[in-house]
Amino acid sequence: MHFRFAPILGLAAVLVVPFSLPAQTPQNPIKITADLTDAPRKIIHARMTIPVTPGPLTLLYAKWIPGEHMPDGPVDNLAGLFITANGQQLPWVRDDVDMYAIRVTVPEGVTELDVKDDFLATAAASGFSAGASTSANLALLSWNELVLYPAGHKDDADIYVQPSVILPQGWQYATALPRTSPGKESDTEPAPDGAVHFDPVSLEQLIDSPLLSGKYFVQIDLAPEVTPKHYLDIASDGPEDLKLTPETISAYSNLVRETGALYQSRHYGSYHFLVTASDQVAHFGLEHHQSSDDRVPEKTFVDDNLLLLSADLLPHEFTHSWNGKYRRPAGLATGNYEDPMKGNLLWVYEGLTNYLGNVLAARSKIETAAQYRDYLAQDAATLDYRPGRTWRDLQDTATAAQILYAYGFGSPWDNWRRNTDYYAEGDLVWLDVDTTIRKLTNDKKSLNDFLAAFEGLGGNTQPKVVPYTFDDVVKGLNDVVPYDWAGFLTERLTSKAPHAPLGGIENGGYKLVYTDMPNDITQAQINATGITMDWWSIGAYVASDGRIEDVLVGSPADKAGLGPGMQIVAVNSRQFSGALLNDAIRDAKGNTNPIALIVVNTGVYKVLALDYHDGLRYPHLERVDGTPDRLDDILKPMTSAAK
Ligand SMILES: [Zn+2]
Repeated sequence: MHFRFAPILGLAAVLVVPFSLPAQTPQNPIKITADLTDAPRKIIHARMTIPVTPGPLTLLYAKWIPGEHMPDGPVDNLAGLFITANGQQLPWVRDDVDMYAIRVTVPEGVTELDVKDDFLATAAASGFSAGASTSANLALLSWNELVLYPAGHKDDADIYVQPSVILPQGWQYATALPRTSPGKESDTEPAPDGAVHFDPVSLEQLIDSPLLSGKYFVQIDLAPEVTPKHYLDIASDGPEDLKLTPETISAYSNLVRETGALYQSRHYGSYHFLVTASDQVAHFGLEHHQSSDDRVPEKTFVDDNLLLLSADLLPHEFTHSWNGKYRRPAGLATGNYEDPMKGNLLWVYEGLTNYLGNVLAARSKIETAAQYRDYLAQDAATLDYRPGRTWRDLQDTATAAQILYAYGFGSPWDNWRRNTDYYAEGDLVWLDVDTTIRKLTNDKKSLNDFLAAFEGLGGNTQPKVVPYTFDDVVKGLNDVVPYDWAGFLTERLTSKAPHAPLGGIENGGYKLVYTDMPNDITQAQINATGITMDWWSIGAYVASDGRIEDVLVGSPADKAGLGPGMQIVAVNSRQFSGALLNDAIRDAKGNTNPIALIVVNTGVYKVLALDYHDGLRYPHLERVDGTPDRLDDILKPMTSAAK
């Protein structure tokens, strides 16, 4: 999963079925038809037939959603559940501990149940896959929102489901699901009745294969010379949002080529980037083996600023096809949706992916090397000004992932809590690994060698899961160059040092510095959000209306008594604006007069003195002359097409 690191803000175990299971086999699968006709009205209907045998039966709704790393299956939005057998409605009861388990007794002589349910797609435009997913002109269907399946299977790859979908008139679609003939994988048009039928797939593959559909739709063949096939599928709220430039298409084609060179393998039959470009949906990315669910602002592909702010999204989710879906931490490879996941290796699953997503964005020319460095400077500086690191180590941010996704960087007191820091700090740790390998081998080897062996294990394969442990990661690194990798990683995972690990930047030939001008990425974020990025000066993020998003613990803003949620009304007696605040910070440099702020806090007004005199400060990376420029080497394309 991915969201941009930026200031914005016990009884389940007894679900054993005491009789031999009916086979939900490829020959006798569960059948499910999802009806998206009412998706624009934020309700999705489903009908299922489930092969059964008589007796007590438990039906399950997926709880632990792969890639979201937490038990957030949206069972609260499941409605209209009717279970019938031979036309008779059957009573059901929910397990009184496991909200995701429905119990029913199948009458004698009954071989299949008819099940109807609805998913209420009413969530706000925040959150992850269960967040807003529809608009008047598009819908992203995640099958876990609708499907119920019999309990008692240890591995969800053993349950088979045959899916169909009914689309609103005139909508096209894309999915990694195999379409039942007639039809082929690149088809985007449904049959004249609006229906599309797919071959039976495992429950795992169904839930791993969301379906994107919409009225305004484009499918672009990426890197057409590459086998298997790659498609960029975009649904948007208006036809004008789909006018990608040849340069953009060329950059995403480069991404396909660069991953082949880097990972020396592919683990899918074909790959679909399923991109929802809409301001009506949640914005994030969710990885799958053969596709990704990428939801971005509506104008992303026609606005350079927005495209830049999503530069690493597709490279990140695509990388997960190798690092996350194919190679998966043992604690996350549960094989089903009921057993709790363990997040202790998320600093590999997400941290390494975060690093590679950014590197691949630069190698593919989705962003420039300079923009990569601007991102890295900002992330490194944000992590360096994060006092929560003195009480919570990086390992705990991964172990506690399932309770930390609710919080964004820059949300109230988040610098003291820390949240899913293993994403952004993964950039620093894995850059440190990469540059250390280069240093130890006189630049003859790099992380690329580790990746070719670790992610390319077994060569090209169909989708499957190959789990790994901490020791496997250490062994893989030692196979590239012998070193105390266990100690190296453990030190960075357990450190309570007040500052971030910046060794990779240093080994890369750069240093983190501050100037009074924002770098291009920081400026792009200021332009997009209106938030002043005064984090590295006064220690606050202030919105365009004066509201304080967060205050840095120990900073001048903290000492002045500012807190998140307060609103600055006046700066030096004049009505607040972000520009006025920054002018005051500039003017206070070198003198001793505090900046006078009038703030309102829960209806109470107060005058506060902000005693700060070092001027505006924004992070940049600066080249250190005379040192090896390894960071520049890392960002060079591996394929000639991208050069
Ligand atoms: Zn991710």
